[in-house]
Amino acid sequence: MLLNSSKKSSRQKLLFTALVGLLSATAPLAPAFAGAINQPISVSQIPTVYSFKVGAAKISALSDGTAALDLHKLLKGASEKKIDDLLDGDFLANPVHTSINAYLVQIGDRKLLIDTGTGDLFGPETAGKLPGALAAINVAPAQISDVLITHVHTDHIGGLVRGGKIMFPNATVHLGQPDLDFFLRDSGSGADASLKKEASEMLGPYDKAGKVKGFTGTAEIAPGLTGTVHPGHTPGSAFYTLDSEGQKIIFVGDIVHSAVQFQNPEITIIFDTDQKVAEKTREAAFKSIASERQLIAAPHLPFPGVGYIKRAGKAYEWVQLNYADWPSK
Ligand SMILES: [Zn+2]
Repeated sequence: MLLNSSKKSSRQKLLFTALVGLLSATAPLAPAFAGAINQPISVSQIPTVYSFKVGAAKISALSDGTAALDLHKLLKGASEKKIDDLLDGDFLANPVHTSINAYLVQIGDRKLLIDTGTGDLFGPETAGKLPGALAAINVAPAQISDVLITHVHTDHIGGLVRGGKIMFPNATVHLGQPDLDFFLRDSGSGADASLKKEASEMLGPYDKAGKVKGFTGTAEIAPGLTGTVHPGHTPGSAFYTLDSEGQKIIFVGDIVHSAVQFQNPEITIIFDTDQKVAEKTREAAFKSIASERQLIAAPHLPFPGVGYIKRAGKAYEWVQLNYADWPSK
């Protein structure tokens, strides 16, 4: 997902209307959008964390909040009626509050943060809550050794700098080299000007300090933790795979924004830099994740966004990880 604050182009204005207009309201979802579904009224949450172990690593899903997305404006490849029908089948109605999840991986003496939420770029009411979630598990931003960015969009890099200050002073920032070039280093790239400005504000200070590392193909970032570039949503969108003591989890970034894409993986989103490639990347990922019964973590699936993808005929289903509050031996 992409949420950005300074809108210049008409495309950006459209996104702004679709997102921020909805978000600026502190009230629950406007009833004008509600269908016949008996939806509860959302409230503000306390800092929200869900932790579990994968091999020797402790993983914590950290909620940055949610964003109300107008899927009529944002999804591509399906009519409004089709989107409404698909949402209705999932007991949802447009607009849909969409989670913004980040993940902390603690392994050995490293604390690796995967994505940083929206920071100050998205108003305090519903997002920008990542620091509170980190504090809830007694992790100070200065303890973060590495920040792993899945891609250079507002809701993933927005927490790198807040109030003009570097938030993770001791961290090396890792990301796919094509995103680093497209959004930050190649001034002649075709990236949207406002996204370039944001990348310069959020990644620039780390880059100037020599703390940004781009990778291509597949690269080892920490023992057992690799990054792999899967272009489509952005040119350098990356998966991060943790393989520890025979257990595995893949942090897949924005290959999916809405549950309707499990039923119809061909549905894309306006934020995809390359719609066709994004679709192909999603379809390939769904297929292999489902066939391998692989555990994944996704930034925009309902918090904690951790679970499995199951084949359902020609389509797929999301199966959330079973909740447990029990110290396993
Ligand atoms: Zn996103």
